[in-house]
Amino acid sequence: MIDLHCHSQFSDGELTPEALLKQALHANIKLFALTDHDTVAGLQRLFDAARNHPIQIISGIEVSVRWKKYDIHMLGLGISLNDSQFDQFIAQQNQKRIQRGIDISNQLEKLGVADAYEKVRAIAGHERIGRPHFAELLVNIGCCKDKQAAFKQYLGVGRSAYVPTNWTDLETAVTQIQKAGGIAVIAHPMKYRLTRTKLHELIRSFKSVGGVGIEVVSGEMTQTEIEEAAGLCHRFDLKASVGSDYHGSASKVRLGQQHPLPLNCTPVWHQWTI
Ligand code: AMP
Ligand code: MN
Ligand code: MN
Ligand code: MN
Repeated sequence: MIDLHCHSQFSDGELTPEALLKQALHANIKLFALTDHDTVAGLQRLFDAARNHPIQIISGIEVSVRWKKYDIHMLGLGISLNDSQFDQFIAQQNQKRIQRGIDISNQLEKLGVADAYEKVRAIAGHERIGRPHFAELLVNIGCCKDKQAAFKQYLGVGRSAYVPTNWTDLETAVTQIQKAGGIAVIAHPMKYRLTRTKLHELIRSFKSVGGVGIEVVSGEMTQTEIEEAAGLCHRFDLKASVGSDYHGSASKVRLGQQHPLPLNCTPVWHQWTI
């Protein structure tokens, strides 16, 4: 079993790296990557916990990218930790995340929600605030019936508390991942609701700056979407990755429980396994 995409408490996941490892071992996962949003802070703990267990850990990250007017997620897999240039890159991303958190809070203030930033910081337990933390706050204070509704009413693209963010660009993200010794993979390509023309344009640009793979199987993708994504790999001669995008108990797909990779795809992980 392989899972190259999931989240811990260090971003918007529910579990500690140790608890994730426990679940991964239970699911018989042999190759496992933690890919928190714009941070590698949880990885050392995962490596430490995995010592002496029959599982190979790949260090990962899910980088937020601004491409045209879209928020695109790019996985960096196999990056080396303690790379000062990459750490600097992540620090810039987090600066943008903090500013966005403050901007979202100001929007919510206008809508009658007081002190949102302080409250989401308490919910997250750290500074790497994601929109799911705001969603949790809106549910907690009775504004929304669940997180989905919070995205639909406030936090989703174009809604009243949505703040466009000047995340890093496609080329910088790929280059930084490469310089840190990793490979770049476009996460969940069908989630962006791009037209086919736009999606092809994104992937062509991604490939032209050194992108290596596409996440062909991700969390809640349907069989049709998986086949479409596999088709993209063939068309653009890219490798394929798989992952659950597990965030915790609310995730429908558990660790390692995503659909299998279509046989006609070339996996990204051959370089790490024999
Ligand atoms: P952020 O990086 O702060 O923009 O947050 C993005 C994260 O929000 C994603 O990784 C998902 O975990 C979550 N998310 C995005 N859209 C939705 C949605 N419609 N409902 C619930 N969670 C969502
Ligand atoms: Mn997330
Ligand atoms: Mn994502
Ligand atoms: Mn993710």
